[in-house]
Amino acid sequence: MEYAFLDRGRFDYTPRDCLEFHEAIEQEVLPLVRELQERRRKEMGLESLHPWDLAADPRGRPPLRPFQDAQELEQKAERVLDRLDPELGRDFRTMRELRLLDLDNRKGKAPGGYQSTLSEARLPFIFMNAVGLQRDVETILHEAGHAFHALATREEDLHPYRHAPLEFAEVASMSMELLGSAFLEEFYTSPEEAARARRAHLEGIVTFFPWMAVVDAFQHWIYTHPEHTREERAEAFDALMVRFGGDVDWRGFEDVRRQTWHRQLHIFLSPFYYVEYGIAQLGALQVWRNWKRQGREALEAYRRALAMGGSRPLPELFRAAGAEFRFDAPTIRPLMEMIQVELAKL
Ligand SMILES: [Zn+2]
Repeated sequence: MEYAFLDRGRFDYTPRDCLEFHEAIEQEVLPLVRELQERRRKEMGLESLHPWDLAADPRGRPPLRPFQDAQELEQKAERVLDRLDPELGRDFRTMRELRLLDLDNRKGKAPGGYQSTLSEARLPFIFMNAVGLQRDVETILHEAGHAFHALATREEDLHPYRHAPLEFAEVASMSMELLGSAFLEEFYTSPEEAARARRAHLEGIVTFFPWMAVVDAFQHWIYTHPEHTREERAEAFDALMVRFGGDVDWRGFEDVRRQTWHRQLHIFLSPFYYVEYGIAQLGALQVWRNWKRQGREALEAYRRALAMGGSRPLPELFRAAGAEFRFDAPTIRPLMEMIQVELAKL
């Protein structure tokens, strides 16, 4: 564990901080998760929620169709970014002009979605497989955030400084999902559809935290109990699913729940990798909150922080973006309250 932390360049937080993060999630996020589950249960008219009820649209509506093809996705994403901030809109336009976007799904194309940087040209590149879903809108905004990061550090001559640590790189991208969400009307003609997209996005953010806590806490357990047996491992994981799962009815499928860690590739491939996304989401929620309060000023801080690349430690990058690098209960509570307020409007 100590080695993995140093190997990942985690000089600004400790295993102890991660355990505290799990506790804070249990205390501050789980009540909201249960509330959302209860709402879903009622909406679906069920006695109890089964694992497979969690991903479906609660009213059985067909998927949202925000765009038809990659061309339309590019155009509409550009309008969203223009409305958010003319400079970011201009950056996105530059990418379009230089053909740095490969967004559409087509036969023979590799799967996945990501932003990569052409290091010699110092230009970002976005690859994805859009098929016309709301998830694709979130992905293009997310990857655009990474691309803005790459463009912001273009003038930095030290190559390692052009990349921020993951905990902050994902603040750049996750913030863009939240900020861009304010202009989803570019993709949807009816207010109901835009509201449905916003709700799905915010619910996804809330429910991600406990799953992240399960994955991270499980990894802590695995590597601090090196002599464990398979049976003990399944027990330890199951206990975490009980602690963080909320009110989901697994009756008859308990043996499956014990093994659901198999669906998280990080556990197999990258010891201790995953908590970064939880840390970054807290940063992104703070950027979003600042923007709601201060508008432009918050965006300027966001851009300044991006321009610092990886030249400063995490707490300084967060501070520059107007966020606190903390993951305790007092930091999380107001952010969950804010999400609750926003969900109530939808
Ligand atoms: Zn990302």
